[in-house]
Amino acid sequence: MTIEQIVEQVEKNQPGADCSIIRRAYEFALHAHGDQKRKSGEPYIQHPLHTAFILAQIRADITTIVAGLLHDVPEDTKRTLEDIKKEFGEDAARLVEGITKLSKIRYRGIKRYRESLRKMFLAMAEDLRVMVIKFADRLHNLRTLDALPKDKQKRIAQESLEIYAPIAGLLGIWSLRWQMEDICFKYLYPEDYKKIEYKYEIERKTELNQYIERIKIIVGSRLKEDRIKHQIDGRFKHLYSIWQKMQEKQRKFDEIHDVFALRIIVDTVADCYKALGIIHSIWKPNYARFKDYIAVPKPNGYRSIHTTVFGPEGRATEFQIRTKEMHEEALYGIAAHWNYKLQRGESLEKTPRWVQEILEIQREAKDSQQFLQEIKVNIFRDRIFVFTPKGDVHDLPSNSTPVDFAYSVHTDIGNKCVAARINGRMTPLEATLKNGDMVEVIIDPNRAGPNYDWLDFVKTRRARVKIKQYAKRSRLDSFKRFLPGFNKK
Ligand code: MN
Repeated sequence: MTIEQIVEQVEKNQPGADCSIIRRAYEFALHAHGDQKRKSGEPYIQHPLHTAFILAQIRADITTIVAGLLHDVPEDTKRTLEDIKKEFGEDAARLVEGITKLSKIRYRGIKRYRESLRKMFLAMAEDLRVMVIKFADRLHNLRTLDALPKDKQKRIAQESLEIYAPIAGLLGIWSLRWQMEDICFKYLYPEDYKKIEYKYEIERKTELNQYIERIKIIVGSRLKEDRIKHQIDGRFKHLYSIWQKMQEKQRKFDEIHDVFALRIIVDTVADCYKALGIIHSIWKPNYARFKDYIAVPKPNGYRSIHTTVFGPEGRATEFQIRTKEMHEEALYGIAAHWNYKLQRGESLEKTPRWVQEILEIQREAKDSQQFLQEIKVNIFRDRIFVFTPKGDVHDLPSNSTPVDFAYSVHTDIGNKCVAARINGRMTPLEATLKNGDMVEVIIDPNRAGPNYDWLDFVKTRRARVKIKQYAKRSRLDSFKRFLPGFNKK
């Protein structure tokens, strides 16, 4: 990997971008790392170069790429954050600092991973780009895992699969999620990986490719007749997701059918619906599997129309229809937006609503806690993550209370709770939980049951149902006591 390849990639995505600062960051990192070597024996600079290249591929902005080149400097060399700040400005230094902090989070077994997850969310709150750089850093480390001892390979793969890949998905950076998952899968379940790889890559794909070509010709000619500019690609599921499906449904590889989809990329939203109409006029759709994420986008901003039709030979065939813009969003998620649209000076109205919201939240938030809270509530869904003292995470609706939390842990805990400690402080049961809170429920084992008044403030369905159930049962109990004959009926 050379700095020229990175510059080339940036210029391809952003014609006219000023890449001089990227070159300077490279020189700086090159001198700082000196003759350090990676475990694989190659010069250390290769690692920041690959990290920066991955960032360029997902359309990250220039500051992010600069920080990617510098990300291991303060940790591993004599040059400090102060030096970086002087040379490359506050913004880049802040990103590098965020990554240095993150690298101190060590994976300490499955039990502590929730804690890592929490720290990760908090780091993300400072600046989402820190996470994006961390993903790129991790992806390159995964690609070079062979140089490490076996136990370390497993540890890193496990951690990546459980923490990094899901967050990449949450941020909509699917291309990184898929890549990370397949590498981790290979190291964690080498035999299953080899089996599926063989069956899929060698046996199945040739046959599928012929089928996909057939469909492409049929749909392509109809789209052309209607003068709809388009591009059709066959898309295969990645190995890890197939394996997951096999595990989930207890099926063999040959019994998993939806391993491919055809992606139709057109110019406008109107064309998406025209293309949909054409497909449905050729083959009968399976309405149970029709989803219009253009009209109703997913919470992370994902947009596309998905439809599955009974194709030639009655074979279930999935289509994903989207515009180019939607396509880029789906692949590169948040990383692309920060740069791609906004920093090019395009007006905010043209950017997807969820990106605007993130930017507005970031501007207005008083602190990281608030940012995290807001981003969770407004962007990722109305959810918060709170933690038990042991570090287990519970995902609750926003404005949940300690009672909701208690019922989410266990019905008995809910029924017998009397107070709570939030982050070590005693609080009443109707207090409002915030993202990242650590909650300890205090129970009274002698307590008869929940208070009916709790219904005034609980937010979860589960808590509501359990409280009502208890109330009903106890009313019934007292009813029975007054009417001795009741039980006979
Ligand atoms: Mn690194």
